[in-house]
Amino acid sequence: MNDHSSIWRILADRLRSPWAFLLMACAALVAAVLSEIDPLVASVLWALTLIVALVRAGGRSHNETVPERLERTAEQPARDATPLARSLIAALDQPILILRADGNIAAQNPAAEKAFGMIAANLHISTRFRSPGILDMVRETIATGEPNQIEHSERLPSERVYVVRVAQAELPADEAPQPPLYLLSFRDISELRRLERMRSDFVANASHELRTPLASLRGFLETLMGPAKNDAKAHERFFGIMLEQANRMSRLVDDLLSLSRLELKAHIAPDETVDLVPMLGHVRDSLAPLASDLGVEIRLYMLQSKVEVTGDRDELVQVFENLIENACKYGQDGETVDVYVRNEDGQPVEVSIVDHGPGIPAEHLPRLTERFYRVSVTDSRSKKGTGLGLAIVKHILTRHRARLVVKSEEGKGAEFTVRF
Ligand code: ADP
Repeated sequence: MNDHSSIWRILADRLRSPWAFLLMACAALVAAVLSEIDPLVASVLWALTLIVALVRAGGRSHNETVPERLERTAEQPARDATPLARSLIAALDQPILILRADGNIAAQNPAAEKAFGMIAANLHISTRFRSPGILDMVRETIATGEPNQIEHSERLPSERVYVVRVAQAELPADEAPQPPLYLLSFRDISELRRLERMRSDFVANASHELRTPLASLRGFLETLMGPAKNDAKAHERFFGIMLEQANRMSRLVDDLLSLSRLELKAHIAPDETVDLVPMLGHVRDSLAPLASDLGVEIRLYMLQSKVEVTGDRDELVQVFENLIENACKYGQDGETVDVYVRNEDGQPVEVSIVDHGPGIPAEHLPRLTERFYRVSVTDSRSKKGTGLGLAIVKHILTRHRARLVVKSEEGKGAEFTVRF
Protein backbone atom coordinates (compact mmCIF):
# COMPACT_ATOMS: atom_id res chain seq x y z
CA MET A 1 0.00 0.00 0.00
CA ASN A 2 2.78 2.37 0.96
CA ASP A 3 4.82 1.35 -2.09
CA HIS A 4 1.90 2.09 -4.42
CA SER A 5 1.17 5.47 -2.95
CA SER A 6 4.85 6.47 -3.19
CA ILE A 7 4.95 5.40 -6.90
CA TRP A 8 1.92 7.59 -7.59
CA ARG A 9 3.46 10.45 -5.65
CA ILE A 10 6.71 10.24 -7.66
CA LEU A 11 4.71 10.07 -10.92
CA ALA A 12 2.61 13.06 -9.92
CA ASP A 13 5.80 14.96 -9.05
CA ARG A 14 7.33 14.08 -12.40
CA LEU A 15 4.16 15.20 -14.24
CA ARG A 16 4.14 18.47 -12.32
CA SER A 17 7.53 19.28 -13.83
CA PRO A 18 7.24 22.08 -16.51
CA TRP A 19 9.19 20.02 -19.05
CA ALA A 20 6.82 17.06 -18.74
CA PHE A 21 3.94 19.49 -19.24
CA LEU A 22 5.61 20.92 -22.38
CA LEU A 23 6.21 17.45 -23.78
CA MET A 24 2.56 16.57 -23.24
CA ALA A 25 1.53 19.80 -25.04
CA CYS A 26 3.71 18.96 -28.05
CA ALA A 27 2.25 15.43 -28.15
CA ALA A 28 -1.27 16.92 -28.04
CA LEU A 29 -0.40 19.25 -30.98
CA VAL A 30 0.93 16.36 -33.12
CA ALA A 31 -2.19 14.34 -32.27
CA ALA A 32 -4.39 17.30 -33.23
CA VAL A 33 -2.62 17.72 -36.60
CA LEU A 34 -2.82 14.00 -37.30
CA SER A 35 -6.53 13.92 -36.41
CA GLU A 36 -7.08 16.79 -38.90
CA ILE A 37 -8.17 19.55 -36.50
CA ASP A 38 -7.66 22.99 -38.08
CA PRO A 39 -3.85 23.56 -37.76
CA LEU A 40 -4.46 27.25 -36.86
CA VAL A 41 -6.75 26.31 -33.91
CA ALA A 42 -4.27 23.60 -32.91
CA SER A 43 -1.40 26.15 -32.99
CA VAL A 44 -3.34 28.66 -30.82
CA LEU A 45 -4.12 25.88 -28.32
CA TRP A 46 -0.44 24.82 -28.35
CA ALA A 47 0.73 28.41 -27.78
CA LEU A 48 -1.70 28.79 -24.85
CA THR A 49 -0.48 25.53 -23.34
CA LEU A 50 3.12 26.68 -23.78
CA ILE A 51 2.39 29.95 -21.91
CA VAL A 52 0.77 28.02 -19.01
CA ALA A 53 3.82 25.73 -18.87
CA LEU A 54 6.22 28.67 -18.75
CA VAL A 55 4.20 30.45 -16.04
CA ARG A 56 4.27 27.23 -13.95
CA ALA A 57 8.02 26.94 -14.45
CA GLY A 58 8.50 30.54 -13.22
CA GLY A 59 6.50 29.95 -10.02
CA ARG A 60 8.08 26.60 -9.39
CA SER A 61 10.74 27.70 -6.92
CA HIS A 62 8.07 28.96 -4.49
CA ASN A 63 6.27 25.66 -4.44
CA GLU A 64 9.21 23.33 -3.85
CA THR A 65 8.55 20.56 -1.38
CA VAL A 66 10.39 20.13 1.93
CA PRO A 67 12.21 16.92 0.83
CA GLU A 68 13.59 18.76 -2.21
CA ARG A 69 14.95 21.57 0.02
CA LEU A 70 16.64 19.08 2.27
CA GLU A 71 18.14 17.25 -0.69
CA ARG A 72 19.70 20.44 -1.92
CA THR A 73 20.91 21.38 1.58
CA ALA A 74 22.75 18.10 1.77
CA GLU A 75 24.65 19.06 -1.34
CA GLN A 76 25.75 22.44 0.09
CA PRO A 77 29.40 22.77 1.12
CA ALA A 78 29.97 22.15 4.87
CA ARG A 79 29.46 25.30 6.98
CA ASP A 80 32.09 26.39 9.51
CA ALA A 81 30.56 26.86 12.98
CA THR A 82 33.80 28.25 14.47
CA PRO A 83 32.84 31.97 14.39
CA LEU A 84 29.61 31.27 16.28
CA ALA A 85 31.38 29.02 18.79
CA ARG A 86 34.13 31.63 19.22
CA SER A 87 31.67 34.39 20.09
CA LEU A 88 29.85 32.10 22.54
CA ILE A 89 32.99 31.03 24.44
CA ALA A 90 34.23 34.64 24.57
CA ALA A 91 31.50 35.31 27.14
CA LEU A 92 32.78 32.62 29.55
CA ASP A 93 35.36 33.32 32.25
CA GLN A 94 36.78 29.81 32.20
CA PRO A 95 39.65 29.13 29.73
CA ILE A 96 38.29 27.29 26.66
CA LEU A 97 39.90 26.21 23.39
CA ILE A 98 38.00 25.02 20.31
CA LEU A 99 39.68 22.17 18.48
CA ARG A 100 39.03 20.67 15.06
CA ALA A 101 38.97 16.95 14.31
CA ASP A 102 42.66 17.08 13.29
CA GLY A 103 43.57 18.37 16.79
CA ASN A 104 44.33 21.87 15.51
CA ILE A 105 43.26 24.87 17.58
CA ALA A 106 40.41 26.72 15.84
CA ALA A 107 39.90 29.40 18.50
CA GLN A 108 40.53 30.33 22.14
CA ASN A 109 38.61 32.64 24.44
CA PRO A 110 40.11 35.66 26.28
CA ALA A 111 40.25 33.65 29.55
CA ALA A 112 42.45 31.04 27.84
CA GLU A 113 44.59 33.80 26.38
CA LYS A 114 45.03 35.25 29.87
CA ALA A 115 45.88 31.86 31.43
CA PHE A 116 48.09 30.37 28.71
CA GLY A 117 49.09 33.34 26.54
CA MET A 118 48.17 33.92 22.91
CA ILE A 119 48.06 30.65 20.97
CA ALA A 120 48.26 31.03 17.19
CA ALA A 121 45.19 29.60 15.43
CA ASN A 122 45.51 26.41 13.37
CA LEU A 123 48.47 25.12 15.35
CA HIS A 124 48.16 21.62 16.74
CA ILE A 125 47.17 21.40 20.42
CA SER A 126 50.50 19.65 21.15
CA THR A 127 52.41 22.84 20.31
CA ARG A 128 50.97 24.45 23.46
CA PHE A 129 50.16 21.54 25.77
CA ARG A 130 52.84 18.88 25.92
CA SER A 131 51.19 16.90 28.70
CA PRO A 132 50.70 13.33 27.41
CA GLY A 133 47.57 13.12 29.58
CA ILE A 134 45.86 15.98 27.72
CA LEU A 135 47.00 14.83 24.27
CA ASP A 136 45.87 11.22 24.81
CA MET A 137 42.54 12.39 26.14
CA VAL A 138 41.93 14.69 23.16
CA ARG A 139 42.91 11.92 20.73
CA GLU A 140 40.49 9.50 22.39
CA THR A 141 37.56 11.95 22.34
CA ILE A 142 38.14 12.77 18.67
CA ALA A 143 38.18 9.05 17.88
CA THR A 144 35.16 8.04 19.96
CA GLY A 145 33.11 11.22 20.44
CA GLU A 146 33.00 10.47 24.19
CA PRO A 147 33.92 13.26 26.66
CA ASN A 148 36.99 12.85 28.88
CA GLN A 149 38.64 14.74 31.72
CA ILE A 150 41.89 14.70 33.67
CA GLU A 151 43.64 16.75 36.31
CA HIS A 152 46.56 18.79 35.06
CA SER A 153 49.02 21.22 36.73
CA GLU A 154 50.72 24.16 35.07
CA ARG A 155 53.92 25.48 36.64
CA LEU A 156 54.20 28.76 34.73
CA PRO A 157 53.47 31.64 35.04
CA SER A 158 52.28 30.42 38.45
CA GLU A 159 51.50 27.02 39.91
CA ARG A 160 47.88 26.14 39.04
CA VAL A 161 45.83 22.96 39.08
CA TYR A 162 43.10 22.44 36.47
CA VAL A 163 40.45 19.87 35.69
CA VAL A 164 40.77 19.70 31.91
CA ARG A 165 37.75 18.38 30.01
CA VAL A 166 37.29 17.71 26.33
CA ALA A 167 33.93 17.06 24.71
CA GLN A 168 32.52 17.09 21.20
CA ALA A 169 30.21 20.07 20.59
CA GLU A 170 26.72 18.90 19.60
CA LEU A 171 25.94 21.04 16.54
CA PRO A 172 22.27 21.44 15.47
CA ALA A 173 21.31 18.74 12.93
CA ASP A 174 18.72 20.75 10.97
CA GLU A 175 21.33 23.26 9.80
CA ALA A 176 23.86 22.72 7.04
CA PRO A 177 26.28 19.95 7.96
CA GLN A 178 29.32 21.11 9.88
CA PRO A 179 32.65 19.47 10.63
CA PRO A 180 32.73 18.46 14.31
CA LEU A 181 34.29 20.82 16.87
CA TYR A 182 35.67 19.91 20.28
CA LEU A 183 35.68 22.09 23.39
CA LEU A 184 38.71 21.84 25.66
CA SER A 185 37.82 23.54 28.95
CA PHE A 186 40.00 24.24 32.00
CA ARG A 187 38.40 24.46 35.48
CA ASP A 188 40.83 26.06 37.93
CA ILE A 189 40.79 24.11 41.21
CA SER A 190 44.00 25.61 42.66
CA GLU A 191 42.10 27.55 45.33
CA LEU A 192 40.08 24.46 46.28
CA ARG A 193 43.29 22.44 46.61
CA ARG A 194 44.90 25.19 48.70
CA LEU A 195 41.91 25.21 51.06
CA GLU A 196 41.95 21.41 51.33
CA ARG A 197 45.66 21.50 52.18
CA MET A 198 45.08 24.28 54.71
CA ARG A 199 42.28 22.33 56.36
CA SER A 200 44.31 19.16 56.66
CA ASP A 201 47.36 21.12 57.94
CA PHE A 202 45.08 22.80 60.45
CA VAL A 203 43.66 19.52 61.77
CA ALA A 204 47.20 18.08 61.98
CA ASN A 205 48.48 21.18 63.82
CA ALA A 206 45.52 21.35 66.20
CA SER A 207 45.86 17.66 67.07
CA HIS A 208 49.57 18.07 67.61
CA GLU A 209 49.04 21.11 69.86
CA LEU A 210 46.50 19.22 71.98
CA ARG A 211 48.51 16.01 72.06
CA THR A 212 51.56 17.64 73.65
CA PRO A 213 49.90 18.80 76.91
CA LEU A 214 47.79 15.64 76.97
CA ALA A 215 50.91 13.44 76.78
CA SER A 216 52.48 15.50 79.54
CA LEU A 217 49.35 15.12 81.73
CA ARG A 218 49.32 11.36 81.21
CA GLY A 219 53.05 11.14 82.04
CA PHE A 220 52.59 12.97 85.33
CA LEU A 221 49.53 10.93 86.26
CA GLU A 222 51.45 7.70 85.67
CA THR A 223 54.34 8.94 87.80
CA LEU A 224 51.98 10.02 90.55
CA MET A 225 50.24 6.66 90.53
CA GLY A 226 53.54 4.73 90.41
CA PRO A 227 57.00 5.78 91.58
CA ALA A 228 55.93 9.10 93.17
CA LYS A 229 52.86 7.67 94.88
CA ASN A 230 53.98 8.61 98.35
CA ASP A 231 56.18 11.60 97.52
CA ALA A 232 54.37 14.67 98.89
CA LYS A 233 56.91 17.12 97.43
CA ALA A 234 56.58 15.60 93.94
CA HIS A 235 52.79 15.77 94.27
CA GLU A 236 52.88 19.49 94.89
CA ARG A 237 55.23 20.19 91.97
CA PHE A 238 53.52 17.85 89.52
CA PHE A 239 50.01 19.11 90.32
CA GLY A 240 51.18 22.63 89.50
CA ILE A 241 52.56 21.52 86.09
CA MET A 242 49.43 19.48 85.38
CA LEU A 243 47.23 22.48 86.08
CA GLU A 244 49.36 24.55 83.69
CA GLN A 245 49.01 21.92 80.95
CA ALA A 246 45.25 21.67 81.49
CA ASN A 247 45.02 25.47 81.24
CA ARG A 248 47.03 25.37 78.02
CA MET A 249 44.60 22.83 76.56
CA SER A 250 41.61 24.89 77.52
CA ARG A 251 43.17 28.07 76.00
CA LEU A 252 43.71 26.16 72.79
CA VAL A 253 40.15 24.80 72.74
CA ASP A 254 38.79 28.31 73.45
CA ASP A 255 40.80 29.77 70.55
CA LEU A 256 39.73 26.95 68.20
CA LEU A 257 36.08 27.53 69.10
CA SER A 258 36.55 31.27 68.64
CA LEU A 259 37.94 30.69 65.15
CA SER A 260 35.16 28.35 64.12
CA ARG A 261 32.49 30.76 65.42
CA LEU A 262 34.12 33.57 63.44
CA GLU A 263 34.22 31.45 60.30
CA LEU A 264 30.49 30.81 60.62
CA LYS A 265 29.65 34.51 60.59
CA ALA A 266 32.45 35.62 58.26
CA HIS A 267 29.97 36.94 55.67
CA ILE A 268 27.74 38.89 58.05
CA ALA A 269 29.00 42.45 58.47
CA PRO A 270 28.69 43.82 62.04
CA ASP A 271 26.33 46.77 62.50
CA GLU A 272 26.88 48.20 66.02
CA THR A 273 28.49 51.61 66.55
CA VAL A 274 31.50 51.28 68.82
CA ASP A 275 33.36 54.19 70.41
CA LEU A 276 37.00 53.08 70.44
CA VAL A 277 38.06 55.51 73.22
CA PRO A 278 36.26 53.94 76.21
CA MET A 279 36.69 50.50 74.70
CA LEU A 280 40.50 50.80 74.64
CA GLY A 281 40.43 52.13 78.21
CA HIS A 282 38.55 48.98 79.22
CA VAL A 283 41.11 46.75 77.42
CA ARG A 284 44.00 48.50 79.16
CA ASP A 285 42.34 48.00 82.57
CA SER A 286 41.67 44.34 81.93
CA LEU A 287 45.31 43.76 80.92
CA ALA A 288 46.76 45.81 83.79
CA PRO A 289 47.47 42.76 86.06
CA LEU A 290 49.32 40.93 83.26
CA ALA A 291 51.25 44.10 82.31
CA SER A 292 52.31 44.72 85.90
CA ASP A 293 53.43 41.06 86.26
CA LEU A 294 55.61 41.56 83.21
CA GLY A 295 56.83 44.97 84.35
CA VAL A 296 55.29 46.75 81.36
CA GLU A 297 53.37 50.04 81.29
CA ILE A 298 50.55 50.42 78.78
CA ARG A 299 50.24 54.07 77.64
CA LEU A 300 47.17 55.25 75.75
CA TYR A 301 47.48 58.27 73.43
CA MET A 302 43.84 59.03 72.77
CA LEU A 303 41.69 61.87 71.51
CA GLN A 304 39.26 63.67 73.79
CA SER A 305 36.38 63.21 71.36
CA LYS A 306 34.61 60.02 70.38
CA VAL A 307 36.17 57.82 67.72
CA GLU A 308 33.31 55.74 66.39
CA VAL A 309 33.49 52.80 64.01
CA THR A 310 30.92 50.27 62.87
CA GLY A 311 31.69 46.94 64.48
CA ASP A 312 31.03 44.29 67.07
CA ARG A 313 32.25 45.51 70.46
CA ASP A 314 33.14 42.10 71.92
CA GLU A 315 35.10 41.14 68.83
CA LEU A 316 36.99 44.45 68.77
CA VAL A 317 37.84 43.95 72.45
CA GLN A 318 39.25 40.53 71.50
CA VAL A 319 41.36 42.13 68.72
CA PHE A 320 42.93 44.79 70.95
CA GLU A 321 43.37 42.41 73.88
CA ASN A 322 45.32 40.06 71.62
CA LEU A 323 47.49 42.79 70.12
CA ILE A 324 48.24 44.59 73.39
CA GLU A 325 48.83 41.31 75.24
CA ASN A 326 51.30 40.23 72.51
CA ALA A 327 53.05 43.60 72.74
CA CYS A 328 53.39 43.19 76.52
CA LYS A 329 54.57 39.56 76.28
CA TYR A 330 56.95 39.75 73.34
CA GLY A 331 58.01 43.37 73.87
CA GLN A 332 58.48 42.95 77.60
CA ASP A 333 62.10 44.17 77.38
CA GLY A 334 60.93 47.55 76.08
CA GLU A 335 58.96 48.10 79.29
CA THR A 336 56.34 50.31 77.63
CA VAL A 337 53.57 49.64 75.14
CA ASP A 338 52.11 52.69 73.38
CA VAL A 339 48.61 52.72 71.92
CA TYR A 340 47.81 55.55 69.45
CA VAL A 341 44.35 56.36 68.11
CA ARG A 342 44.23 58.46 64.93
CA ASN A 343 41.11 59.95 63.38
CA GLU A 344 42.15 62.56 60.85
CA ASP A 345 39.81 64.18 58.32
CA GLY A 346 39.53 62.17 55.12
CA GLN A 347 41.78 59.43 56.55
CA PRO A 348 40.73 56.01 57.86
CA VAL A 349 40.51 55.56 61.63
CA GLU A 350 43.68 53.86 62.86
CA VAL A 351 44.77 52.27 66.12
CA SER A 352 48.50 51.46 66.44
CA ILE A 353 50.05 49.31 69.15
CA VAL A 354 53.77 49.95 69.42
CA ASP A 355 56.21 48.00 71.57
CA HIS A 356 59.96 48.45 72.03
CA GLY A 357 60.98 44.81 72.25
CA PRO A 358 63.15 42.66 69.97
CA GLY A 359 60.86 43.10 66.95
CA ILE A 360 60.12 40.51 64.27
CA PRO A 361 62.53 39.49 61.46
CA ALA A 362 61.17 40.61 58.06
CA GLU A 363 60.83 37.09 56.63
CA HIS A 364 58.20 36.20 59.26
CA LEU A 365 55.96 39.24 58.73
CA PRO A 366 53.87 37.91 55.81
CA ARG A 367 53.01 34.68 57.67
CA LEU A 368 52.23 35.99 61.16
CA THR A 369 48.44 35.72 60.75
CA GLU A 370 48.53 32.06 59.63
CA ARG A 371 47.09 29.63 62.15
CA PHE A 372 49.76 28.19 64.45
CA TYR A 373 52.51 30.27 62.85
CA ARG A 374 55.02 31.41 65.45
CA VAL A 375 58.43 33.04 65.14
CA SER A 376 59.65 30.79 67.94
CA VAL A 377 57.46 27.96 69.19
CA THR A 378 59.26 27.65 72.53
CA ASP A 379 59.08 31.39 73.10
CA SER A 380 55.33 31.38 72.34
CA ARG A 381 54.67 28.37 74.62
CA SER A 382 56.63 29.88 77.47
CA LYS A 383 54.44 32.97 77.12
CA LYS A 384 51.23 30.92 77.13
CA GLY A 385 50.65 31.48 73.41
CA THR A 386 48.57 29.17 71.23
CA GLY A 387 49.70 30.47 67.84
CA LEU A 388 46.08 31.37 67.02
CA GLY A 389 45.85 34.93 68.39
CA LEU A 390 46.76 36.82 65.19
CA ALA A 391 44.70 34.41 63.04
CA ILE A 392 41.67 35.34 65.18
CA VAL A 393 42.57 39.05 64.86
CA LYS A 394 42.74 38.75 61.08
CA HIS A 395 39.38 36.93 60.89
CA ILE A 396 37.65 39.57 62.99
CA LEU A 397 39.18 42.43 61.01
CA THR A 398 38.18 40.86 57.68
CA ARG A 399 34.59 40.72 58.93
CA HIS A 400 34.92 44.40 59.89
CA ARG A 401 36.36 45.31 56.46
CA ALA A 402 39.46 46.48 58.34
CA ARG A 403 43.14 45.64 57.79
CA LEU A 404 46.08 44.72 59.99
CA VAL A 405 49.36 46.36 58.97
CA VAL A 406 52.51 45.07 60.70
CA LYS A 407 55.81 46.95 60.65
CA SER A 408 58.88 45.84 62.48
CA GLU A 409 62.61 46.22 62.45
CA GLU A 410 64.69 43.66 64.29
CA GLY A 411 65.86 45.03 67.60
CA LYS A 412 63.59 48.08 67.37
CA GLY A 413 60.22 46.70 68.41
CA ALA A 414 57.04 46.12 66.44
CA GLU A 415 54.05 48.20 65.35
CA PHE A 416 50.66 46.55 64.73
CA THR A 417 48.15 48.96 63.14
CA VAL A 418 44.45 48.30 62.72
CA ARG A 419 43.10 50.42 59.83
CA PHE A 420 39.29 50.70 59.64
P1 ADP B 1 50.82 33.40 70.09
O1 ADP B 1 49.68 32.76 70.76
O2 ADP B 1 51.98 32.49 69.90
O3 ADP B 1 51.20 34.69 70.69
P2 ADP B 1 49.91 34.96 67.87
O4 ADP B 1 49.15 34.51 66.68
O5 ADP B 1 49.30 35.96 68.74
O6 ADP B 1 50.30 33.64 68.61
O7 ADP B 1 51.30 35.52 67.36
C1 ADP B 1 52.04 34.76 66.43
C2 ADP B 1 53.52 35.00 66.62
O8 ADP B 1 53.86 36.33 66.24
C3 ADP B 1 53.98 34.90 68.04
O9 ADP B 1 54.26 33.57 68.39
C4 ADP B 1 55.24 35.73 68.04
O10 ADP B 1 56.31 34.97 67.57
C5 ADP B 1 54.95 36.80 66.99
N1 ADP B 1 54.54 38.10 67.58
C6 ADP B 1 53.29 38.58 67.75
N2 ADP B 1 53.31 39.81 68.28
C7 ADP B 1 54.60 40.13 68.48
C8 ADP B 1 55.28 41.30 68.98
N3 ADP B 1 54.63 42.35 69.43
N4 ADP B 1 56.63 41.25 68.98
C9 ADP B 1 57.32 40.20 68.54
N5 ADP B 1 56.73 39.08 68.04
C10 ADP B 1 55.41 39.04 68.01
